[in-house]
Amino acid sequence: MFNLNQIRLDFPILNSTRNNQPLVYFDNAATTQKPKIVIDTISDFYSNYNSNIQRGMYFLADRATTEFEKSRRVVRKFLNAQLKEEIIFTSGTTQSINMVAFGFLNTVSSAGDEVLIGEMEHHANIVPWQVICDKLKLKIVTIKCCENGKIDIWDLKNKMNSKVKLLAVQQTSNITGHENNIKEICNLAQKQNIKVFVDGAQSVSHKPINLQDLNCDFFSFSGHKCFGPTGVGVLYGKKELLLKMEPFMFGGNMIDLVSFSKSTWGKLPYKFEAGTVNIAGVIGLGAALKYILSLGLNNIQKQEDLLKEKMWEELGAAKNVVMGLTKKPDSPIFSFNIKSTHSYDVGSLLDEMNICVRTGHLCAQPAIKSLGVSGFVRASLCFYNTEEEVSVFISALKRIMKIVNNGN
Ligand code: PMP
Repeated sequence: MFNLNQIRLDFPILNSTRNNQPLVYFDNAATTQKPKIVIDTISDFYSNYNSNIQRGMYFLADRATTEFEKSRRVVRKFLNAQLKEEIIFTSGTTQSINMVAFGFLNTVSSAGDEVLIGEMEHHANIVPWQVICDKLKLKIVTIKCCENGKIDIWDLKNKMNSKVKLLAVQQTSNITGHENNIKEICNLAQKQNIKVFVDGAQSVSHKPINLQDLNCDFFSFSGHKCFGPTGVGVLYGKKELLLKMEPFMFGGNMIDLVSFSKSTWGKLPYKFEAGTVNIAGVIGLGAALKYILSLGLNNIQKQEDLLKEKMWEELGAAKNVVMGLTKKPDSPIFSFNIKSTHSYDVGSLLDEMNICVRTGHLCAQPAIKSLGVSGFVRASLCFYNTEEEVSVFISALKRIMKIVNNGN
């Protein structure tokens, strides 16, 4: 049973107030709130078995290593990856993308080759490719997006050729909430031997991910966007590609043999986990994913569908609201503007009513430019939000419209 009142009690922050106003947290695409089980799991690690992993010959180190590796198995299952060696812990999506850009691209490309990127990607899925392409003398080619932020498949087909070595694309847009058909994209790319990197930062908390079915080559996500801690994330890669890929960080833990003349790297996945990684974060991420699985992603989707319907209808009907999307999103992410009002002003006025949204360029300047605006107000919801909060939000927007229209 999906008991929303009960579930909200799992998230201590959701019951907080400011100036007697309950918190309405609609910035879940930036980061999600944490359930008590995640907070307690991290606290349990530091209180009861804090130690470094993999190298200690004592009980605490053994327990920490066991819990850390348990998380790897949880992630494998959560993504339905084939092997646990294909799951690498990173600091988040940004690090995962940099690792593939700087450790893999050079192994499959030479000067003059091309990398394809969707034109509505987050900066994290643009800038690392740009920097490495500059270094390796590769060309970045952008793929057009349809009005709701989905990759234009015809444009993609036209731009695929034997020079293209990699396509980097998001599964769900952090601006429009629309989802690319990753399976179809991977099918097309594979026919031309193009590797596909999928940025799953905005999809993992909203829908089941089945990597063996999607058949992408690389996939990444961040713990903090799926109810886990900050500073931890995942890079998935197909084993044969990870074997080819070079480490991006070097040091302890990732080595096999070290001498002053030469060093060799350890096995997968450790060759990509240099130094002391975020042990508490990884264990906390395992707890977060288990929490999601215990609620059931189907139940999560049902609740989010309800919220999406209500937001779509009420926001769309509100006078003076200019939506950034023309079709109901796949995930409950809504970008919009209020006529003649800067998004920062709307954000600040909402904040006075204890309502949290994101404003501005949403870390996707090229996308925002292509949509012909200077920024958006973005309300991003998730399963712990309520229909009542949507009503509070719409009333708040109506109040703001009155304030800005009266000029006070
Ligand atoms: N890609 C997308 C689509 C995102 O929304 C974000 C975060 N806003 C990122 C990548 C970067 O994630 P992180 O900052 O956790 O590395």
